[in-house]
Amino acid sequence: MDIGFIGLGGMGRAMALNALKAGHSVRVWNRSRDATKPLAEQGATAVNTPAEAFAGEAVFSMLADDAALRAVLIDGGVLKHAQRGLIHVNMATVSIALCDELVALHEQHGVVYVAAPVLGRPDVAAAGKLNIVAAGSDEAIDRVQPVFDVIGQKTWRVGSKPQHANVFKLAANFMLASAIETTSEAASLMSGHGIDPHAFLDVITNTLFPGPVYQGYGRMIADSRYEPALFKAKLGLKDVRLAMAAAEAVNVALPMANVVRDNLIEVLAQGDGEKDFAVLGKIAARRAGRGDWSV
Ligand code: NAP
Repeated sequence: MDIGFIGLGGMGRAMALNALKAGHSVRVWNRSRDATKPLAEQGATAVNTPAEAFAGEAVFSMLADDAALRAVLIDGGVLKHAQRGLIHVNMATVSIALCDELVALHEQHGVVYVAAPVLGRPDVAAAGKLNIVAAGSDEAIDRVQPVFDVIGQKTWRVGSKPQHANVFKLAANFMLASAIETTSEAASLMSGHGIDPHAFLDVITNTLFPGPVYQGYGRMIADSRYEPALFKAKLGLKDVRLAMAAAEAVNVALPMANVVRDNLIEVLAQGDGEKDFAVLGKIAARRAGRGDWSV
């Protein structure tokens, strides 16, 4: 396919590279131009503006948050110049409100909008093993499926309303945040009693709570290892806030989300927002009067 790719951060650069390696023709744009270089070396075309990336059959975007999408797409007026019938696949985790705004704006400009947030961190993206949660017109998803097939291991179609994919993703990240929080608190309980959290998390993540979340974040928490950040704490906070807003919009309470949000605010106050989501472990350790888990 002839595609554009906007947003070459930790996730986007791995996804764009996999599309490129699979033989798709990829135009890349990123705010910090340096990020386009490794892709251009592999055969991608680096373009100077997001509008230039908005061409061909489809454009994929993997920007950080609502503000980034607003700056690039809405304030930049990119859609005004896009060809009618072009498909835009937004793979970032964004608010329900922004999704609705983008659906209306795309309709107005004759551009097809698909929401396709993903499950999996940059290492999973690099392996082409993301789980893609897609919603939008089936015909549009069929057309971009060849690209989904090389960046993900499975595409989960969750409806024709793009918004639904974002609700799925926010609910998933709310669960992820809660899992990291409870793992951190449990590690803190162990270390308070002089028990090495490594031993505890080894047992628990191989018995009651197996799977990538508890095992991956559990190891990082046990090691007090919060860098390199595969999923930045500040982006985790963004997602918890978005889940809370999505819940409030339909009068649903998420009591647990309030706790995690406050802890993530504390992470930012401590200057650790760029560290990995696992840094919630550091907050739990400090509350227990410890710098780390040494017993
Ligand atoms: P990241 O490494 O921080 O990259 C963010 C990207 O957004 C960069 O390309 C950055 O450009 C761009 N950006 C930020 N603000 C911008 C602005 N105002 N204008 C233009 N571009 C802007 O983030 P990431 O980890 O790749 O995450 C991207 C999205 O995927 C987020 O929505 C995140 O929630 C979601 N996600 C992440 C993970 C994960 O584990 N990391 C997993 C699933 C989903 P610069 O290079 O110029 O800064």
